[in-house]
Amino acid sequence: MTNDDIRHEATAAIARGSSDPLTFEQVTLQSPRADEVLIKIVASGICHTDLVCLHQELPVPLPIVLGHEGAGIVVEIGSAVQDLVPGDHVVLSFNSCGQCPSCDSKLPSYCYHFMANNFSGSRSDGTGTMEQNGAAVNANFFGQSSFATMAIANVRNTVKVSKELPLEMLAPLGCGIQTGAGTVLNSLPVTEKHSLAIFGGGAVGLSALMAAKLIGAAPLVVVEPLADRRALALELGADHVIDPFAVENVVEEIKKLVGGVDFSLEMTGIPAVAKQCIDVLKPLGTCALVGAAPADAEISINIMEMLVTGRKIVGIVEGDAEPRTFIPQLIKYYEEGRFPFDRLIDFFPFESLNEAIKAQESGQSIKPVVRMV
Ligand SMILES: [Zn+2]
Ligand SMILES: [Zn+2]
Repeated sequence: MTNDDIRHEATAAIARGSSDPLTFEQVTLQSPRADEVLIKIVASGICHTDLVCLHQELPVPLPIVLGHEGAGIVVEIGSAVQDLVPGDHVVLSFNSCGQCPSCDSKLPSYCYHFMANNFSGSRSDGTGTMEQNGAAVNANFFGQSSFATMAIANVRNTVKVSKELPLEMLAPLGCGIQTGAGTVLNSLPVTEKHSLAIFGGGAVGLSALMAAKLIGAAPLVVVEPLADRRALALELGADHVIDPFAVENVVEEIKKLVGGVDFSLEMTGIPAVAKQCIDVLKPLGTCALVGAAPADAEISINIMEMLVTGRKIVGIVEGDAEPRTFIPQLIKYYEEGRFPFDRLIDFFPFESLNEAIKAQESGQSIKPVVRMV
């Protein structure tokens, strides 16, 4: 009998249609292959990308088990896994191949095989990890599919964490929080001498804000339509907050307040906002495009304006993070009281996953996390 013949029972929330609620169903998982880990999922964050995929704006094969901010306890390890043992607490992040030029450069979020490893519904070799009554269920979403009580992850996207901290709190570090914080701490050369404007005060934007505050960058401006989020941004260290619907011209408003910025962070995926992010830059400023936009979204730029200002525009995925080093670093900042990401989280029981998704879509919850136990 091979490992592939051993089955583990689990409950998964399956997306069967792009506008249907997820349904809770019994599934079976294989035992982990040599470079894989079987994990009992304790909690999972809900990220904007789960919803983009659920609604097929970024198409994934249905039916599929989504979820990519899992946290849990190692149950079983593959024969080649050396630095994890059953009982370890782990946070799951995005998957990568480990062999392409980007992975070699420790920038796995630009893995040449990112789509196959994260969005294909199977392993990159096309084999599935989950089934139901003998039929395949698409899974392995972001190398995990954490909207389930058990998951198979690759050792590359499994990050060992301290047992001192509650796993359910650490779950969202795997994607949204890492993306925002990494944009400021890894991708951009932000120092205490730099000003930032963050467009979008959701989990990614507010994580970027906390990271900018940690560095001592100032002034920090957050543009966000929801009043609760603007209030939280001020508590987390923003110097100015702007309701984009309450001012005539956001760019002029920021220039009036702080005279333009060195770095602008586009977290909304809205082309008109991306344009504002470019227009608000000082000479030599950099605009970071971080928010997932519709596949056909484009902006136009004035070439001469770019030349004479020396501006840069850069796309960023997952905050350029190498999860196995960056997530422990974020946890250390949290323990030092310098990165209070727990302020963003609301907990829901796993059975209320559909309600938690609604709370994220309506803006009622910044970072919903469902608990399986
Ligand atoms: Zn790669
Ligand atoms: Zn995500």
